[in-house]
Amino acid sequence: MSRRKKLYEGKAKILYEGPEPGTVVAYFKDDATAFNAQKKAVLEGKGVLNNRISEYIMGHLNRIGVPTHFIKRLNMREQLLREVEIIPLEVVVRNVAAGSIAQRLGLTEGEPLPRSIVEFYYKNDELQDPLVAEEHITAFNWASTQDIDEMLAMALRVNDFVGGLFAAAGIRLVDFKLEFGRVYDQNDLMRVILADEISPDSCRLWDMDTNEKMDKDRFRRDLGDVTEAYAEVARRLGIIKESTVVSIDEASP
Ligand code: UDP
Repeated sequence: MSRRKKLYEGKAKILYEGPEPGTVVAYFKDDATAFNAQKKAVLEGKGVLNNRISEYIMGHLNRIGVPTHFIKRLNMREQLLREVEIIPLEVVVRNVAAGSIAQRLGLTEGEPLPRSIVEFYYKNDELQDPLVAEEHITAFNWASTQDIDEMLAMALRVNDFVGGLFAAAGIRLVDFKLEFGRVYDQNDLMRVILADEISPDSCRLWDMDTNEKMDKDRFRRDLGDVTEAYAEVARRLGIIKESTVVSIDEASP
């Protein structure tokens, strides 16, 4: 890895220059942060699990025709991705009330929403990612009306498909966060594609029968057994074997 040039280090991933122009390599760290990085920890094995879970979901999305930046997994902690220009928005899809919407609108956590709701947040740590309306997005040129329409359509398609994948594994997809990026083809035509990751770090996942949390809320709310819950998600999706113990030394492929 040291042979590659580091492009950017985020909270949970490091991006390196890729082997070909227009590609990048994402390295999944074990670092966990919450509440705008006020709470931090290292959760051994988390990066390996998120790499595998995100590979599984993004691979399926590519195959059903949702364009994503995912090309292939390289090893236990790295994936090869298409380089994109990230749109500075977090697109949240919600099926069940939880987290910030429950607080903001006085809903009971666990209450099913009348329909799936898509929200946009402006990606800005200093401002703690404020909720924004389409008006702000177009006025400040973060994205065009057409980009917004494409993101909305893709977000709902991802919700239906990934919700189904999880439901088949006995897991309720309560809500999740997506990020999108722009790519340019040979004719300089711009396209919006799905970027970042889809993993228990970016989703709320509850056991279908018991409502037990199987996602990052275990870390946010000090519920313990965080990586164990992520491993259980991977097991139920059939990504890792029933008997797999999450191993600690994950440097090799
Ligand atoms: N989320 C995320 N990154 C963020 C904010 C939210 O991945 O910076 C995810 C979060 O895990 C949840 C969904 O987006 O699945 C909705 O989060 P919410 O707005 O309820 O905020 P939170 O309660 O997580 O602060």
